[in-house]
Amino acid sequence: MSRSVATPAGRDAGDEAPSPDLMTRLLAAGVDRRAFLRYCAALTATLAMPPRFAPRVAEALTAVDRPALVWLEFQDCAGDTESFLRARDPSVAQLVLDLLSVDYHETIMAAAGTQAEAARDATLARGGHLVVVEGSVPLGAGGGYCTVGGRSAEQILKAAAAKAAAVVNVGTCSAYGGLPAADPNPTQAVPVEEVISGVPVLNLPGCPVNADNLTATLAHYLTFGALPPADDLGRPLFAYGERIHDNCPRRGHFDAGEFALEWGDEGHRKGWCLYRLGCKGPSTFHNCPIQQWNGGTNWPIGAGHGCVGCTEPGFWDDLSPFYDRLPHVTAGGLDATAEQIGLAVAGASAAIFAAHGAGKVVQHRLARRREHAAATQDGDAHE
Ligand code: SF4
Ligand code: SF4
Repeated sequence: MSRSVATPAGRDAGDEAPSPDLMTRLLAAGVDRRAFLRYCAALTATLAMPPRFAPRVAEALTAVDRPALVWLEFQDCAGDTESFLRARDPSVAQLVLDLLSVDYHETIMAAAGTQAEAARDATLARGGHLVVVEGSVPLGAGGGYCTVGGRSAEQILKAAAAKAAAVVNVGTCSAYGGLPAADPNPTQAVPVEEVISGVPVLNLPGCPVNADNLTATLAHYLTFGALPPADDLGRPLFAYGERIHDNCPRRGHFDAGEFALEWGDEGHRKGWCLYRLGCKGPSTFHNCPIQQWNGGTNWPIGAGHGCVGCTEPGFWDDLSPFYDRLPHVTAGGLDATAEQIGLAVAGASAAIFAAHGAGKVVQHRLARRREHAAATQDGDAHE
């Protein structure tokens, strides 16, 4: 597994020649420059970068060459593709995606059969492309559970990654195995990183991936020629650097010991904390409360349902049953103080991280952030 940076093929940082292509297409689509700059400002905010980086993002998106992108689907529900097709401000996002030459995407491409296979193989032979992977890789039955064109998912993935600049896993299935790998895992499903090595990999887990985070990741790659800084689970810090619990609008009720006890009870109707109905927000890292879904319309906890921990490596087995409290937590009844409840949750979170062998994440997170902040300041100083 490699976490090093990747640079788009055929492009060195700083040598992009301005091209009118994107702005021409934006104007033709009825999107003026002001709207485009607003979009770039939103991308910059998603990346947790200072607003002063927005013009740099805009410049990169309008000037960059088109790195090829191959989107592979293996054992999945196509939910990540669906999520991406519902990107925030789709007219702009789609045109930005056009900067990436999507040479192969089984669900949305017009080509089919040998024509599609030929396009993909030509891209892979050139190298320097981005690979986006949706779905886990089944190794059982000699790979027979998932084949395309007579080749197994494992074979297709290895061929696609061989000369790739970077691999981006979208959704929890490709990142950590996800639902297909749940016990008893009849297809022997594994995450992408158990199949390939020697290429930078970024994980964007979620069930499904949040389209804003994928768009921001691609924008970061196009702007800086590198994948964004990640935690020890391969997740970009801009999107997975904080717990759901720490940004949840119901947090005040948690701290005050105000919990919904049954679906539809008075506490539920009043928007109190869902922890006692099984919310896994205290042990889940994601920017859900901030980015939300479908263009910022809402998010699960906002709609009255607890977080089920879909971005964590243990999802599904370790995060279910979804409507029970975290395992090994003895938070007490409503008579327990908020402090006792908080300590119990923190203990359970630590137990979950330890169970995943991911205890280092918490310790490394602050150090990584400091490194990222220093790198950002350094980059800013070179502007
Ligand atoms: S337990 Fe869940 S609902 Fe309650 S504050 Fe934390 S994240 Fe929000
Ligand atoms: S609230 Fe939790 S389970 Fe729901 S989408 Fe966000 S991270 Fe996933």
